[in-house]
Amino acid sequence: MIKLTFLGVGSAFTRKNSTSSILVECGKIKMIVDCGVPVLKSIAEYGLTLDQITHIFITHLHADHIGGLEQVALQSRFTHQHRLKLISTDTLLDRLWECSLKGGLEFVELTPNDKTPQTLSDYFDCMTIETETWFHVEDDEPLQLYARPNNHVLNLETYGLEISEDPTEREKTILFTSDTRLDKTLLANGVKTCKYVLHDCQLFNSGEDNKFGVHASYQELQKLPPEIRQHLWLYHFGDTPLPDAQADGFAGFIEHMQVFNTE
Ligand SMILES: [Zn+2]
Repeated sequence: MIKLTFLGVGSAFTRKNSTSSILVECGKIKMIVDCGVPVLKSIAEYGLTLDQITHIFITHLHADHIGGLEQVALQSRFTHQHRLKLISTDTLLDRLWECSLKGGLEFVELTPNDKTPQTLSDYFDCMTIETETWFHVEDDEPLQLYARPNNHVLNLETYGLEISEDPTEREKTILFTSDTRLDKTLLANGVKTCKYVLHDCQLFNSGEDNKFGVHASYQELQKLPPEIRQHLWLYHFGDTPLPDAQADGFAGFIEHMQVFNTE
């Protein structure tokens, strides 16, 4: 069984909610997907310590998805002496280090006056993946992932995930979109092949018909056919009052710490 828990349901600018992040548990794997600043607080609230997490998957480099990684790197290495496996593409992991983490993590003075530069591999076991193909997170575990490139921000490498114990069975597969603009083809397929579709949603249009939006808007999603809308669980929202998603034909807004099980 896959147990998927929302550690955060909020957007990048939320003050009420934690930023979007999920915990995926299956067999011996406890994997966090995305790692904003609140992630350590959220896993503690859930009842785990960092040394109980086995993997972290990064979907893209916006701060609400990676802002907590520096603390995670330092705490796992020096407090817990625990090696986490960090999963993404080779290009995304390169940019994660060079453009984001290196500033705070390159030098740590392991002994007085030590100037040895550190690399991402000094903190994590890096697992690079191919996209648009299913892969097992571990050879002897059933959990599989399928990373699909998203249309989020032009030239910003971003992936959504299908998460499954058996991709041929709808009841054992979950679609987690991460950050994306509206992708009608993805959703039409997703509702057929996935038990749950967990979808990014901003509560407002950016410009007419959301033409400047980098997330699907609630208004765009409202125009989808009811047979698709009824399967959509929405997250990544801001602090303004939530509309009545169920009255509007959606499965609903996801709550902090809400759980989705495949069985
Ligand atoms: Zn983003």
